[in-house]
Amino acid sequence: YTETLLEGAMKDTSLCERWLQIIYDESQRLERLINDLLDLSMLEAEQVELHFKSIDIRKLIENVLSVLHHLAQKENVELVMHSEDVPDVVVDEDRMKQVLLNLIHNAVKYSPKGEKVVVEVKKLTREVQISISDKGVGIPQNHLNRIFERFYRVEKDRAGKSGGRGLGLAIARHIVEVHGGTIGATSNPGEGSTFYFTVPTDLVFPR
Ligand code: ADP
Repeated sequence: YTETLLEGAMKDTSLCERWLQIIYDESQRLERLINDLLDLSMLEAEQVELHFKSIDIRKLIENVLSVLHHLAQKENVELVMHSEDVPDVVVDEDRMKQVLLNLIHNAVKYSPKGEKVVVEVKKLTREVQISISDKGVGIPQNHLNRIFERFYRVEKDRAGKSGGRGLGLAIARHIVEVHGGTIGATSNPGEGSTFYFTVPTDLVFPR
């Protein structure tokens, strides 16, 4: 696009504006991709410094829901949280926010209009479990245990929704695991998916 514009196409102002927008959007997409790749390689090389502190995970979820409120409203998807009384968890707040943003954003992205995304918070023995359920397209069984691999995407088999890079869940898995938690997903194709992860209530890996 840049080459053609420089070769003279920029004299056509309407074409110029349209192509500049494409160049801008693509540069932004590349920036996100590079950031995700950097993030993932730092996590894989265990070069990410974590700042653990004790927080109320429900407050963090509320914050994430408010960040995604606009997008959900645009998609006509309702965001709800159900929580029992849970103890504080020991996490790196920014990293935990990244996990929640990724999972809830995905749930909104794959939900049909008019549906709900439900975030549920439960107390387990020494952990708190957060699950995110949607009523979206779901994930076929043969893909389920591979979606946490980097670059793995179901879209190549699926018409419609696309644009992802297959890195978000790999990053989420790393973050959950360095916290000493576990992450997984269950799904009924055509009916929806539930992604869940646990976070310890005590510091598991002191750094
Ligand atoms: P992407 O950036 O491609 O969304 P992710 O790592 O977040 O990458 O997701 C990996 C794959 O898992 C994607 O191909 C996506 O289709 C699938 N996926 C993730 N969340 C959901 C969901 N809530 N419902 C259906 N498919 C999902």
